[in-house]
Amino acid sequence: MEMTEIHNCRNARVEKFATPEEPFHFTDSGLPNVYLVGIKYFDCECGSVVAEIPAIKQLMQLIARDIVSSPRDLTGEELRFLRKRLGKKATEYSKYLGFTAETLSRVENGKQAFSIQAQKLARLSYCAFSEDPHLVECAKMILQSILEEIKNRKKSRIVLEMDANREWREFKAA
Ligand SMILES: [Zn+2]
Repeated sequence: MEMTEIHNCRNARVEKFATPEEPFHFTDSGLPNVYLVGIKYFDCECGSVVAEIPAIKQLMQLIARDIVSSPRDLTGEELRFLRKRLGKKATEYSKYLGFTAETLSRVENGKQAFSIQAQKLARLSYCAFSEDPHLVECAKMILQSILEEIKNRKKSRIVLEMDANREWREFKAA
């Protein structure tokens, strides 16, 4: 992967250690908000900051788990991250969400919002296709919340009935 590549410019570089106070901003993750602690990184005179990141597969898996199991709204960047982790092309992946490839591209680029339902489908399809055993429980919870939504949609109906005295009353199923 690109991010483990050794930075070979000839400028001087300063070795640093990423701490909770001064973490390494992991921008190569494709996400704007991922920080790493407990690794060495180099501040180069050319302006670039490079880290040699070990166990990158496990790291990316943990980031994906966090995104999938979080109750926050999914961002376009996170959606792209999940798609890339699954190794899916946009044309194929868009079908899982009921999008066209063009819509998926706009959503991933943050130019279009996407519904809670599409967010749930994205999370659920990651659980299904990643085959990460840690996400089985998460998949069940997402399914449960989809089922509850369907139930609540029915409940939100207001049904009124004309009674024998020609007055309206709340309809109660027998
Ligand atoms: Zn450099």
